[in-house]
Amino acid sequence: MPTFRSKALEDVFHRKPLVVEPAGKISEFYGENVFNQHTMREYLTDEAYEKVMDATINGTRIERGIADQVATSMKDWATSRGATHYTHWFQPLTGATAEKHDSFMQPTGDGRAIEKFDGSLLVQQEPDASSFPNGGIRNTFEARGYTIWDPSSPAFVIGNTLCIPTIFISYTGHALDNKVPLLRAIAAADKAATDVCQYFDRDVKKVTITLGWEQEYFLIDRALFNARPDIALTGRALFGHAPAKGQQLDDHYFGSIPDRAMAFMKDFETEAHRLGIPVATRHNEVAPNQFECAPIFEEANLANDHNQLLMDLLDKVARKHDFRVLLHEKPFEGLNGSGKHNNWSLSTNTGVNLLKPGKNPKSNMRFLTFFVNTIAAIHKNADILRAAIAGAGNDHRLGANEAPPAIISAFIGSQLTEALDALEKNIKAGKMTPDDKTALKLEIGRIPEVLLDNTDRNRTSPFAFTGNKFEFRAVGSSANCSNAMIALNTIVADQLIEFKKNVDARINKGEKKDEAILKELQKLIKASKNIRFEGNGYSDEWVKEAKKRGLSNLVNTPQALSVLKRKETRDIYSAMGVLAPEELEARVEVEFENYILKRQIEARVGADLAQNHIIPTAIAYQTRLVENVKGLKDIMTAAEFKKASSTQVKLIKEISEHLSAVKDDVDALRAERKKADKMTDVEKIANLYADKVMPLLNSVREHSDRLEMLIDDEMWPLPKLRELLFTR
Ligand code: ADP
Ligand code: MG
Repeated sequence: MPTFRSKALEDVFHRKPLVVEPAGKISEFYGENVFNQHTMREYLTDEAYEKVMDATINGTRIERGIADQVATSMKDWATSRGATHYTHWFQPLTGATAEKHDSFMQPTGDGRAIEKFDGSLLVQQEPDASSFPNGGIRNTFEARGYTIWDPSSPAFVIGNTLCIPTIFISYTGHALDNKVPLLRAIAAADKAATDVCQYFDRDVKKVTITLGWEQEYFLIDRALFNARPDIALTGRALFGHAPAKGQQLDDHYFGSIPDRAMAFMKDFETEAHRLGIPVATRHNEVAPNQFECAPIFEEANLANDHNQLLMDLLDKVARKHDFRVLLHEKPFEGLNGSGKHNNWSLSTNTGVNLLKPGKNPKSNMRFLTFFVNTIAAIHKNADILRAAIAGAGNDHRLGANEAPPAIISAFIGSQLTEALDALEKNIKAGKMTPDDKTALKLEIGRIPEVLLDNTDRNRTSPFAFTGNKFEFRAVGSSANCSNAMIALNTIVADQLIEFKKNVDARINKGEKKDEAILKELQKLIKASKNIRFEGNGYSDEWVKEAKKRGLSNLVNTPQALSVLKRKETRDIYSAMGVLAPEELEARVEVEFENYILKRQIEARVGADLAQNHIIPTAIAYQTRLVENVKGLKDIMTAAEFKKASSTQVKLIKEISEHLSAVKDDVDALRAERKKADKMTDVEKIANLYADKVMPLLNSVREHSDRLEMLIDDEMWPLPKLRELLFTR
């Protein structure tokens, strides 16, 4: 049997995949833990069912009597699935989900009890909300916050609890969560897109925003995770020399899935399917122990709830399999980080995907309208989009030369580039003749229904068109998709409204509808050209080129968040009815605080580990070398000694250098943190962490990682990256 540096490593070696009982045909249990349409049909009266459907689709209010009916049925269904408790399930600005469980049980006064649940408990609750982040919206003396039922996302049972998706607002009616602005942004995009659709089809009454996320994650053995305080507390390895073998060989990507990981995947997928989360694909990702799962796309609000739920499931099921799942954007320096691609499109009640090229000039005109307007929205509001994906973890990805860069650009592929170039060139300035129009229609008709070039192969673009949808790739793996979706839908809504206004103005001046649309599209194609980039987004040339084009390169979170303080940002969020100025302001405060807290924890853990683990180990090893040298001196001639001790002496000196560097950096880092503690402006504190603390933490790491290479393997106190990543 091999020998191990630690008990933890030995444990990992002996682990077997958990035996997961086959769950049978997915169709037989899919959605069984969800109070979905199918179940509602069975449990609700026709009237209640119609009312809930109406609320789901059109956002109408559900009156009290109906709510009572729904509550009773929901309880009957949930208890039949083993639920004893219920909770309002919501998404406060912590980024995670929150729940507080209450029992259905009510004593009847005769020594017994019954299960009870009524409409008022279903519709609204007042959780003790004073400790959720609120950015100052809710002063502590007015700590009331309400959770309110969101009927558009169905209730579900997990374990013994009925979970009811809710929004979370303050007593003053302000959004305290991610769902409220998401629902508002979706409504704004729906309205704006539906209005624009009237040019093409008067039967369009509703446009649904669709979202298909792809979730990347790392799996680490639980014992090793627990032996790494940095990973356990911050989600990423603050120390650790890169393993000799990382991802150079590309042998992990799409490789056969390791047995233990496979057992885990089957298990969480079954749980996901029971909850009606349509996860469909699984594969190994680029880095060792990195994986991805993706569902079939859904309506954006539901898709986002499902992603939140899935992240929770991943964590729970992983523990059962003696794994820990890392959702951090960059757990391991030198290896690929994890993202959460947000595939986004718009689809009509008439069954049309508005971002799918069509069969004829007319449908392609519609496609081009939504396609070009999306690009124009990105161009005009690239910084807002950048701000939406900002976060301490994602800073290690964006601009770190591997994942999408921090510069926002859009990739559309060569065929569409040609098409847009042709439109830009061939639409005449003056009045168009019938011949001009025919020629243009021909050109537009040439965009094929299925785009031939592999548009999705440019993996370096943060925002890529992939055939029938845009893929926002710069979103971080731990993020709540709603941040990205709020921003994207808001800016697209704004752009579509402006487009409609301009086209209508032309029509009112006597231009024909098609001509008016084409002229406006041409204007947008020209104006937004700078945001289109087809080359390698990771290259240094792109950074230079982007600068020349005047595109922003907001390299860290504090810089990106400052965008949210601009007047233009405030105006657009407020005009689209997504976030009132005070709601936005509160969010900015919360996000800065979040960034600061995360960096603060990292700085503390990093300093502690350096001081308490790494420095003592280095000193112990150095002492051993010193003793060795002294011993040699005792038994050797001067000439012999000089030769025999030279390696040790060199090592002693090298260790000393790194030791004092680590200590100096740790001291400097503590001094900077003390400064931060005395400051009150969150933006300034965040910048201090980004500009002063982070470089010091990186330097501590650099020297510690060198020490890791110098010191006896057996003495090193932390599991090494090669052990974390290659032990299965
Ligand atoms: P890749 O890894 O090449 O990006 P995947 O197949 O893993 O591709 O992911 C594609 C994602 O895009 C899936 O989640 C899928 O459901 C989603 N998707 C496909 N069509 C749409 C659409 N119209 N709207 C939103 N998402 C979509
Ligand atoms: Mg993708």
